[in-house]
Amino acid sequence: MYNRKCISALLGVILMTALYGCTEKSADDKPTESEVGLFAMDTYMSLKAYGPNADKSLQNASERITQLESLLSVTDSGSEIYRLNNAEGKETPLSPETGFLIRSSLEFGSETNGAFDITLYPVSKEWGFTTGSYKVPSEERIKELLEKTGSDNISLSNDGSGALLKNGANIDLGGIAKGYAGSCAAEILKDDGIESAILNMGGNVQTVGTKPDGNAWKVGIQDPEDSSKLVGMVSVADKAVVTSGGYERYFEDDDGNIYWHILDPKTGYPAQSDIISVTVIGSDGTICDALSTSLFVMGTEGASAYLKNHSELGAVIVSRDRKLYITENIRDNFKSSGDFAGCEIIII
Ligand code: ADP
Ligand code: MG
Repeated sequence: MYNRKCISALLGVILMTALYGCTEKSADDKPTESEVGLFAMDTYMSLKAYGPNADKSLQNASERITQLESLLSVTDSGSEIYRLNNAEGKETPLSPETGFLIRSSLEFGSETNGAFDITLYPVSKEWGFTTGSYKVPSEERIKELLEKTGSDNISLSNDGSGALLKNGANIDLGGIAKGYAGSCAAEILKDDGIESAILNMGGNVQTVGTKPDGNAWKVGIQDPEDSSKLVGMVSVADKAVVTSGGYERYFEDDDGNIYWHILDPKTGYPAQSDIISVTVIGSDGTICDALSTSLFVMGTEGASAYLKNHSELGAVIVSRDRKLYITENIRDNFKSSGDFAGCEIIII
């Protein structure tokens, strides 16, 4: 099912590229709008920016995303992560970016009491989440693979210029890389003088400035149980809006059980918290991405406690019983819709 989704997205990109490549529209009273589509980091991305130089800037941003994918991909044999994973415990040199992301991931791991864990890769690989060859591993196999996980197995040099993995460990930056790529792409656009852009990166939305008319961007949050509906809209400027949900990548077994790609590091099984989707809103896409994955694992209680101590972040959480939890700081910038219009909102 996922593969089919990938192929149709890919066809969409090819079509878009063939039809538009990078398009520029301009009307007398409107700023120039440019758009570029690409398939990267296992998802279809659509980048839109406004201004006279937006066309060239978007090309630069899209090349940067592709370059980060080549650096960080867990499956591409030319990537640094692949090299590190296949170094058989030997020290591997790292670029500053990879070193930074591994260090940040370790920090998120300790801040979230282990909910964020990049060493889960041997387990998620066994489930087939990185290849699309899905299967439900046996309990014994999961137990065996969990032995190889844990941040103690990562030894990162003090300056981040090298690392080695112990005890057969392997890592995967899939829970954080897209957020970082969004931040980097936004940085490129800003450096080029772009004041208005919206980058849609499959569950991750990165905004630059406001809409060209000066109003906030309105970002829709998908209903995790019905992709044709929205939970609501959040109004933001210059922020990342990152959603994690079990619906983003999953498979179903013959008995109709659903298994999704966000795993609980304690069990090695898909995280079974009371959360079905969590959106994190903040200035730093890297933080928002790592946290959306972590809070999904932590559940409403752990997530609420974490968010109370991090007032710089906003969040919209949909619980399994279809209640909405939102942080106080985005109360005035969030409007629920569809089934959620007028529903009781729990402020955290
Ligand atoms: P997506 O990448 O689909 O937008 P997420 O940002 O939530 O969604 O990242 C999910 C990815 O993160 C998984 O595909 C896997 O690579 C990785 N992952 C899964 N569980 C965890 C976890 N508990 N901690 C860190 N990374 C995880
Ligand atoms: Mg994430």
